Amino acid sequence: MALRRITNYKTDDILRKKSKYVDKMDEKVVRLLDDMAETMYHAKGVGLAAPQVGILKRVIVIDIGEGLVKLVNPEIVEQEGKQQDIEGCLSIPGITGEVVRPSWIKVKALNGKGKNIKLEGTGLLARAFCHEIDHLNGILFIDKVVPGTKKDINI
Ligand code: ZN
Repeated sequence: MALRRITNYKTDDILRKKSKYVDKMDEKVVRLLDDMAETMYHAKGVGLAAPQVGILKRVIVIDIGEGLVKLVNPEIVEQEGKQQDIEGCLSIPGITGEVVRPSWIKVKALNGKGKNIKLEGTGLLARAFCHEIDHLNGILFIDKVVPGTKKDINI
């Protein structure tokens, strides 16, 4: 495993691009998932999407403190309710803001071994799924911040 450089929204256009579907679970994807997990833990994040390490593939990792989840080609298939809470992003250091997300979602994806899985999440897990899947579509949380809730500690 190896740490990868985390891209920054100010300098890395890749964060605004759409990621490509993974059509084959090869060694490269397995290594990418491992490296992303290591990079996420090292940076003390709860989630990371491949564009955040400079790769335009639909690959995410999440750990909200309940264990590591590796997802390839994740898609939200069902959602319910609304929750508003604070978010940040490893690619947008120093900025936080509140974002409205579904309170419950169901996601389908391939797991780290290429098997079809379905996962459900509420609270922070639902938020993390939405935030990371947004990254795969070039969307950042700052695009969705509830007006008046954005804080920038860099200023
Ligand atoms: Zn992010």
